[in-house]
Amino acid sequence: MSKASNPQLKSWVEVKPGSDFPIQNLPFGIFKTADTDARAGVAIGEYILDLAEIANAGLFNLSLPQKLTFSLPVLNGFIALGKPITNTVRKRVSDLLNAENAELRDNEELKAKALIKQSDAEMREPVLILNYTDFYSSKEHATNVGIMFRDPANALLPNWKHLPVGYHGRASSIVVSGTPINRPKGQTKADDAATPSFGPSKLLDFELEMGFITGKRTNLGTSISTAEAEDYIFGMVLFNDWSARDIQKWEYVPLGPFLAKNFGSTMSPWIITMEALEPFRVESPTQEPEVLPYLKFEGKKNFDINLEVEIIPENGKGKTVSRSNFKYMYWNMAQQLAHHTSNGCNIQVGDLYASGTISGPTPDSYGSMLEISWQGKNPIQMPDGTERKFILDNDTVVMKGYCEKDGVRIGFGECSGKILPAV
Ligand code: MN
Repeated sequence: MSKASNPQLKSWVEVKPGSDFPIQNLPFGIFKTADTDARAGVAIGEYILDLAEIANAGLFNLSLPQKLTFSLPVLNGFIALGKPITNTVRKRVSDLLNAENAELRDNEELKAKALIKQSDAEMREPVLILNYTDFYSSKEHATNVGIMFRDPANALLPNWKHLPVGYHGRASSIVVSGTPINRPKGQTKADDAATPSFGPSKLLDFELEMGFITGKRTNLGTSISTAEAEDYIFGMVLFNDWSARDIQKWEYVPLGPFLAKNFGSTMSPWIITMEALEPFRVESPTQEPEVLPYLKFEGKKNFDINLEVEIIPENGKGKTVSRSNFKYMYWNMAQQLAHHTSNGCNIQVGDLYASGTISGPTPDSYGSMLEISWQGKNPIQMPDGTERKFILDNDTVVMKGYCEKDGVRIGFGECSGKILPAV
């Protein structure tokens, strides 16, 4: 359905080299300014195109209810219109921003209203997330955690290569990039203590993940095949699944996805469409042993997306602590969705499905401090002379992601969060 984007396309909006948002990207988000309520926009260079203003000006060939979705404070209504409509809107935005097209380029009055500097806008959560699932689909990550907490000789549980392991997370505490998070408090027990105690987590960690947002619902009792799965995926974001390792270790062994996780997760504000990611498909890692028929798939279902994590101390210089890639995922999104619905579980528009920590094969590509510092045994040296085993108060963790090919860079913007002291 979707075609590879054209590297020759240029916009009349200035897009600086290295920008995440050239005309080939055109991701959707929700923004607010001092003058407007939260509404839908598309990122272009350092600007946002206000879709509500473009619709008001009559530049979209849409019905009134369809146009009204741009004035809502979440994208669920727009996404629910379905890919035939959302792709048509994205194509129309591409035409309106095309350097060759005078319609908007030469309309100074409309440009003044509809083109907003990103620095003058505040980004909001792009969707009302109805359900959040977190997978555990990086073999390198699951192996590292298995070695640390279980049995180095049998790091992966017997089921791991037969199904994409996951759990249901908490949607209410997912916040947009830039929202500070207080260090969680909780019940922990030191190895040498007889009884547990309650207080601020001492082992606060990030998890480098990506998430996909579904744009099409299913009925309870139906399943999605791997061949159909991508029709249900609207687009992707960066995702930090903050984790309190000391709370996690005590509350449930071996996987503790409850209070160790639900105090906050951070998502990036722009949803990069699957259509923009189309040119960056790559082969998946070989799956051995062979998977059951409902998990088999055809074609390139992994995506080459460079990922990095930086820790920035208060008033200090930052340090990049990880460089990973989404292409390492053992289980792809189509398999995750097929497995998730294989028992008849229904999905909704605006569900978020996170990948699980994305670790690469080498220590500088691990996706959590748990692995990077190997449980605190190998601290990271920071430029200011301090060291990090885990995340300290007033540290900001910034995740970035981008694809690059034929001179086109499709970026995800930032997924950033500052840790404030416990309250
Ligand atoms: Mn996770």
